Amino acid sequence: MNFDYTDEQKKIRQEILDFCREAGLNDAIDARDRSGEFPRALFEKIGQGPCLQGLAIPKEYGGRGLDPLTTIVALEAFGYACEDNGLVFAVCAHLLATAVPFARFGTEEQKKAFLPGLCDGSKVGVNCMTEPGAGSDIGGIATTAVRDGDDYILNGKKTLVTNGPAGDLGTVFAVTDPEAGLQSRMTPFAISMDTPGITRGPAFDLLGNRTTPVGELTLENVRVPASSILGGREGTAMAIFNHAMNWERVGLFAAHVGTMQRLTEISIKRARTRKQFGQAIGKFEGISHTIAEMKARLEASRMLVYRAASRLDRARDVALDASIAKLFVGEAYVQTAHDALRIHGGAGYINDTGLARPLRDAIGSTLYSGTSEIQKNIIAGWLGL
Ligand SMILES: Cc1cc2nc3c(=O)[nH]c(=O)nc-3n(C[C@H](O)[C@H](O)[C@H](O)COP(=O)(O)OP(=O)(O)OC[C@H]3O[C@@H](n4cnc5c(N)ncnc54)[C@H](O)[C@@H]3O)c2cc1C
Repeated sequence: MNFDYTDEQKKIRQEILDFCREAGLNDAIDARDRSGEFPRALFEKIGQGPCLQGLAIPKEYGGRGLDPLTTIVALEAFGYACEDNGLVFAVCAHLLATAVPFARFGTEEQKKAFLPGLCDGSKVGVNCMTEPGAGSDIGGIATTAVRDGDDYILNGKKTLVTNGPAGDLGTVFAVTDPEAGLQSRMTPFAISMDTPGITRGPAFDLLGNRTTPVGELTLENVRVPASSILGGREGTAMAIFNHAMNWERVGLFAAHVGTMQRLTEISIKRARTRKQFGQAIGKFEGISHTIAEMKARLEASRMLVYRAASRLDRARDVALDASIAKLFVGEAYVQTAHDALRIHGGAGYINDTGLARPLRDAIGSTLYSGTSEIQKNIIAGWLGL
């Protein structure tokens, strides 16, 4: 077991820190957050620069070909250096829930058609499972795909689709065999969002991550060729969705670890410089112990995502590691964002000081990629409970 970064990992971390500073990712974030604007130009710039959208995608399809652990180290650096958590969320969901499963399961034709545009940021990816009537219980989705000659016809409604309003292509999950059990009743379709019959709704007015466009997708008699099935085989939705979730629960939450580090550093600085009762507030045990707990949560979170990352695509039970990491980091992120705000006192409550936004952003981490309660169910299931 070696906990040191490799030379490649050190290099990519530095590359991302430099890029985020130089590319202006942190300019005018509060204005974007208020208006809920998705910074598409920056999304494209990231694709053309460090190509974060293609970190784990093989080079032959336009990606950087990094191994899972190096990818996760890179995403952590991104979450640290890019203060626009909505942009971080959009990039991570695109890479982890769309590009990664396309690269792993797509047919050669699908990989060639979709991956280059996903990697260079010119296309925005989506992953559409959740519906108004089926969130935690994904087996309850009602969207159908009915075979008609060489085609399928899809009907249904998806909601809470990350990148949905700006999405160009991605995976739509639909029921192809209503009589079958959970493992084989649903099929993933790799679809371009400009296919006739698909309507993208406007972006929801979100509590946090407001620069990520999240919305609904309606499918009305959407006709696609059978070759649109991701991987070419019916009934494979659960395997592909679970693979995407394993990566998202590790990679997106690695980015959150980076954000937690930034919030911890800001809090330490404040605790050293803000004086009350004639001394720095960090001299009060109430503050220093809070920061000590932030530091302990940060390090524990980092170890969990690194361990899970080191087992991605290799260990059969990585879903257990991914759920543990997701549960722990999601809750830790909310606590750390709340602590950072409180350490700043009343100033933290003023939007302009930049401490309220991370708390609003953090809350979503207990919901997306499966709620904290669902992670506990998954962990308990692995323990035979
Ligand atoms: C910002 C954001 C982005 C998202 N992006 C996407 C996306 O890109 N694609 C996509 O498909 N989905 C996406 N989602 C949807 C997300 O996956 C769901 O919101 C989540 O799985 C919960 O489903 P739900 O909202 O329907 O809540 P529900 O399933 O209705 O759950 C409500 C409450 O009941 C609890 N609960 C439900 N079942 C159980 C149980 N068995 N045991 C214990 N507690 C339970 C939940 O934990 C929760 O507290 C996104 C959500 C958010 C907030």
